[in-house]
Amino acid sequence: MAIRSEDVLDTTKDNKEVKTNEKERDYSQYFQSTYAPPSLKDAKKRGKEQVQILKDFSIPENLKNIGVGKKFYIRTYGCQMNEHDTEVMAGILNEMGYETTYSTDDADVILLNTCAIRENAENKVFGELGHLKHTKANNPNLLLGVCGCMSQEESVVNRILSTYPQVDMIFGTHNIHRLPQIIENALFSKEMVVEVWSKEGDIVENLPRKRKGNVKGWVNIMYGCDKFCTYCIVPYTRGKERSRYPQDIIEEVRQLAREGYKEVTLLGQNVNAYGKDFEDLEYGLGDLMDEIRKIDIPRLRFTTSHPRDFDDRLIEVLAKGGNIVDHVHLPVQHGNSDVLKLMARKYTREHYLELVSKIKAAMPNVALTTDIIVGFPNETEEQFQETLSLVKEVQYDAAYTFIYSPREGTPAAKMQDNVPMEVKRERLQRLNAMLNDISLEKNKAYVGKVVEVLVEGESKKNPDVLTGHTGSNKVVNFKAPKHLIGEIVKVQITDAKTWNLGGEWVEEKSEVVG
Ligand code: SAM
Ligand code: SF4
Repeated sequence: MAIRSEDVLDTTKDNKEVKTNEKERDYSQYFQSTYAPPSLKDAKKRGKEQVQILKDFSIPENLKNIGVGKKFYIRTYGCQMNEHDTEVMAGILNEMGYETTYSTDDADVILLNTCAIRENAENKVFGELGHLKHTKANNPNLLLGVCGCMSQEESVVNRILSTYPQVDMIFGTHNIHRLPQIIENALFSKEMVVEVWSKEGDIVENLPRKRKGNVKGWVNIMYGCDKFCTYCIVPYTRGKERSRYPQDIIEEVRQLAREGYKEVTLLGQNVNAYGKDFEDLEYGLGDLMDEIRKIDIPRLRFTTSHPRDFDDRLIEVLAKGGNIVDHVHLPVQHGNSDVLKLMARKYTREHYLELVSKIKAAMPNVALTTDIIVGFPNETEEQFQETLSLVKEVQYDAAYTFIYSPREGTPAAKMQDNVPMEVKRERLQRLNAMLNDISLEKNKAYVGKVVEVLVEGESKKNPDVLTGHTGSNKVVNFKAPKHLIGEIVKVQITDAKTWNLGGEWVEEKSEVVG
C-alpha cells in the first residue's frame, strides 16, 4: 500500500489544527477510522459468521444540516446494482441537506460510483478524474469522491493515492451507510479519506433512497456473489451472498405499489441463489416471486439470473404469468462446455439448453436475453463456433456481448492466452452480426400487433415522440400526448428495427401481446 501508519498520524495532526479552530467540539473521533485499505485476499474469504442485519441507520444530529445550501452530483458507471446504490447515496445526501445538481460546475460534492467489471470501464473513470482536476482547481472546497466496485481494489486505491491528489475520499461498496461520517471526515481532513472494508458484508435495512423517477423501482433482494466465475471481480468487490428477509422485501414492494410505481425489478448479482443463505428458513426466489406477484404492481421483473440455480419452483411460478413479465435475462457466457468449465460456470451447454426449453415451455411468449464473453483465454475457433450455434438455437431477443478483459486477482487473469486481440474483435463482430439479424427478425414479428408499453418519457432524439418498454423489454417509440408518461398504454406496432419498434398509440381494446 502507498500509505503507511504515519500517514494516519498525520491526519491526527490536522485534527489538532481543526480542534484549535473549533473549540466547542472534539473532532478527534473522526480521524481514527479513516484509513482502511482494501484487500482482494480478504475479500475472497467466505467466513461462517452470521450476516448482520442492521436496522438502526440514522444521520447523526450534527450532520443533518451539514449540506444545507450545497449541491451534490453523482455519476454512475456499470450495472443496475450501482444505479440503485446511487439512489441510496442520493437519499443519504438529501437527508444531510444537500440538493441534486446535474452539472459538476456548481457541485459541492461529486461522487463517481464506479464499475470494475472490465478494464475500459475503469479507464473511463481515470479519464474523468483527470478532467475533474480542473473543476477541483476552480473550486477548492469541492469534495471529490470515488466509490463503488473500483474502490474495493487495492491497485485502484494505490493508483488514486499516488496519482490523483484531487480526490478527497475513497469508500467501498460496504461503506455506503458511512457516507455522512466519510463526508464529515473529508470536510475537516487535509488527507485523502480512505474507508474500504474488505468484509463479506452486512445488510443495512433502513437506508434512505432517492429513487430515479416514480414509475420503475429497483428492490435489492440480495447482495454479493459466491459464484466466483474465474473471470469475474464481483465476488471480491461485493462480498458474500446475503439475502434480505422476505418480509423486508415484500414491505418495500408494497410501499412502491402504494406510491403508484408501475414496475418493480428485483435485483441481485445471482437472484436465483436467493434464500440459500437462510439458516432458519426454506425459501427461494420462486417462493418470493409467488408472494410478490400478488401485490398490486402492474409489472414484476428480476435480474440477474444464473442458469445453475434456476430451479423448477421458479419456472412453475413464472408460468403463472399475470404481472410477471415475459422476459428472462439468462447469461450464458459461452456455448462450449469446456470453456464454461474453465469459467467455473458450473453448468454445461446441454444443461443450459434444457433450461431454455423448460422456460420456453412455461412462458410461450418469453423474450430471452443474455450476456456473452468472447475471447476467453485460449478460446479456439471451434469453441467460438459453439457460441454461435447456441445463439442460433436459442434465438435471443438481445444480448450484451463483451471481449474478455483480465481482472487482477481473478483466476483467469493468470491463464496464458494465445488469442490475439484482432481475432477476439473479429469474433465479437461475427457474433454481434448474428445477434442483430435475429433481433431484427424477432422484432419484425411484432409488426401489426398491439403491445402494452410502459411510457417512460420523451425520446432523446425527438421530444415529440414518447418512448417506453414492453413487458418483453422491447423499446417502443410512438407519438402520443405527454400526460401518458408513467402510464401503461396500448401501441400498434408499425415498424421494426434491430434495437427498437415504432408504433401508433391505440385507445380501443385489442388483443395484446408482449
Ligand atoms: N451476475 C451476472 C451473471 O452472472 O451473469 C452478471 C454480472 S456482470 C455485472 C455482467 C456481465 O459482465 C457478465 O455476465 C459477464 O458477461 C460480463 N463480465 C464479467 N466479467 C468480465 C470480464 N472479466 N471480461 C468481460 N466480461 C465480463
Ligand atoms: Fe460474476 Fe459469476 Fe457472480 Fe455473475 S455469477 S457476478 S459473472 S462471479
